[in-house]
Amino acid sequence: MNFDLPEELVTLRDAVTDVCEKHLITGIKSFEERQEFAYPLIREMGKAGLFGAPFPEELGGSAAGFLAVSVIAEEISRLAPEFGYAMNMQSMTCPYTIYNWGTEEQARRFVPGLIAGEQIGMFALSEEGSGSDPAGSMRTVARRDGDVYRLNGSKMWITFSHATDVGVLFAKTDPHADPAHTGITAFIVQPKHFEGYSAQPIELPGLSRSLRSCTVFLDDFVVPVENRLGEEGEGFRIAMNALEYGRLTVSGRLTGLAQSALDVARNYANERIIGGKPIARFQLIQERIADATVAVEAARLMSHRVGWTMDQGRVSTRVASRAKYFATQAARLAGDVAREVLGGNALTAEYPVKKINAYIDMLTVGEGSENVQRVLIGEDSLGIKDATRHAMRNRFVGML
Ligand SMILES: Cc1cc2nc3c(=O)[nH]c(=O)nc-3n(C[C@H](O)[C@H](O)[C@H](O)COP(=O)(O)OP(=O)(O)OC[C@H]3O[C@@H](n4cnc5c(N)ncnc54)[C@H](O)[C@@H]3O)c2cc1C
Repeated sequence: MNFDLPEELVTLRDAVTDVCEKHLITGIKSFEERQEFAYPLIREMGKAGLFGAPFPEELGGSAAGFLAVSVIAEEISRLAPEFGYAMNMQSMTCPYTIYNWGTEEQARRFVPGLIAGEQIGMFALSEEGSGSDPAGSMRTVARRDGDVYRLNGSKMWITFSHATDVGVLFAKTDPHADPAHTGITAFIVQPKHFEGYSAQPIELPGLSRSLRSCTVFLDDFVVPVENRLGEEGEGFRIAMNALEYGRLTVSGRLTGLAQSALDVARNYANERIIGGKPIARFQLIQERIADATVAVEAARLMSHRVGWTMDQGRVSTRVASRAKYFATQAARLAGDVAREVLGGNALTAEYPVKKINAYIDMLTVGEGSENVQRVLIGEDSLGIKDATRHAMRNRFVGML
């Protein structure tokens, strides 16, 4: 067993650091001021190959694999958390789902543009009344009308949906199906090509207003039949599989945020003088830093294990859920330590503590909330429901 990152992933991580420092960290500021989608910066990430790790070279990928995805997601979130979303929209939940479940033709049409950052992606599952329970509560419907489907309803919280070129969207083709999850179908949507799609930004204080989430309204929105992803009724399986890949990036992103919080706290503790000495000399501060240090390291090991498991072509449901859950706890802890160590300065714009914690809060919800993970992990641990009962699809390493 070797716990060292392979040399090529260390080089890749350095390349991500470089993109963040050269383009993203300062570049985002003007887009935030104008509340304008930071398309040129997403394009820079695409050009640097940050989205193509789990795709074959013939589609424009680098075939670097899933451990690489974890490393990239962590480094982006450590330095420029606004861009963490892009790892799903431009790499995993959108294009990888198309690659994993689509036809050869769909993969060739849609994947290269998304992972190059030329086309903006989207993954639209959640609705106002349907977050943790998409099967039972989804209200958006798709009705077949000759060569097209007509979609009606709304989606909520959908990241990048105000700028989407190509997205994966889920709707009920059979609202009366029993069991309910068998009535859901996945579609590849192209909002800029067809009428009937609109997106209304949601105000989320503390989070980016450039790279943001919206409510999406669908009013007889057309999707050609050739854009259906998989078979009718297969959508729930596709969505759950996509969330596995989402959990890979989210656990990496939470680890990056946790590291960032820890770094801020450590630096501050060494610099802040109280009673003639740095507060780092106080044992109560050391205890908090120690707890956060160990939590971040454990979160990183668990996140890397998810990528490694996927790279082996093994079912990763169990490890992905545990890693996402633990990374949430680690990030919460590190975020709290930063808040505590910085005192009043944690509230100022001079330090990134509020921003880091806003992104941590956001990520505890996505890709299955904390309680959803607890239920999954608890039922699995107690032998009630095997977390690995659903075979995953992993086309990159050829596993079904
Ligand atoms: C900034 C942001 C971006 C997002 N981007 C996207 C996106 O791009 N695409 C997309 O599809 N969705 C997206 N989401 C939606 C996200 O996935 C949902 O918010 C999430 O699934 C939870 O749904 P909910 O918010 O409706 O909470 P609910 O499902 O209403 O849950 C409320 C509470 O109940 C708890 N709960 C739920 N079920 C159980 C249970 N069985 N036992 C105990 N407690 C339970 C939850 O843990 C939570 O604490 C985004 C959300 C945010 C905040």
